[in-house]
Amino acid sequence: MSDRCLYCGNYFSYNLTIKEIFSLTSIQQDNICPFCRGQLLNLSVDKGCSRCFKPESRTICADCRFWEEKYNIINCHQALFGYNQFIHNYFRQYKRYGDILLADLFLKDLLIWSQNHKFDLVTYIPASKGHKDARGFDPVWEMYHKVFDLKPLLLKIDADKPQAQKNRDERLKTPQTFSCITDEVYPSQTRVLIVDDIYTTGRTILHAKTALKAIGLNDIYTFSLSR
Ligand SMILES: [Zn+2]
Ligand SMILES: [Zn+2]
Repeated sequence: MSDRCLYCGNYFSYNLTIKEIFSLTSIQQDNICPFCRGQLLNLSVDKGCSRCFKPESRTICADCRFWEEKYNIINCHQALFGYNQFIHNYFRQYKRYGDILLADLFLKDLLIWSQNHKFDLVTYIPASKGHKDARGFDPVWEMYHKVFDLKPLLLKIDADKPQAQKNRDERLKTPQTFSCITDEVYPSQTRVLIVDDIYTTGRTILHAKTALKAIGLNDIYTFSLSR
């Protein structure tokens, strides 16, 4: 099989694995070439924090300890790739320059993760109206809508300045920025997943979780492409 990398534009051949050859489901082509893939830092629970997958944290990381001590929150977060130069450049291209085609760069990885983790309800961290209008699309929705049946549950209020322009301290102190926009009543045991693009301090996810808890949802898991 031959594919073209959505990131660098190079063509690459793709060798099917034995599992894929015998698989009954259709084969998802890869949108990222082996060279670009080689620049990714794969995360897993045995290589990082058990609550959020933060790399290079042998035990529970300082961010997760902070949430537990301050708010009695035990994180249940998973992520695929460590935040490094490649991921930084990718998000600059995708979000800042608005290259919407890059939404599918990690589609295969996200589909594989979704097949191994089951939820009753999946929602996402939305862009604020101002950001969405300026960019022309919602980057998190665009990245995950082919993977999950996304239910829009959260509304983000336009903030004073974007998270990316804030330092760590300012991010931790950001007040609640989400409200819930559903009239539906879900059973409290509903297993919910919130997806986001990048997990930095965990503040955004915490606010989203708080907003969902306010409508009675308690079994909440979170996921981001990068951590
Ligand atoms: Zn490439
Ligand atoms: Zn952690």
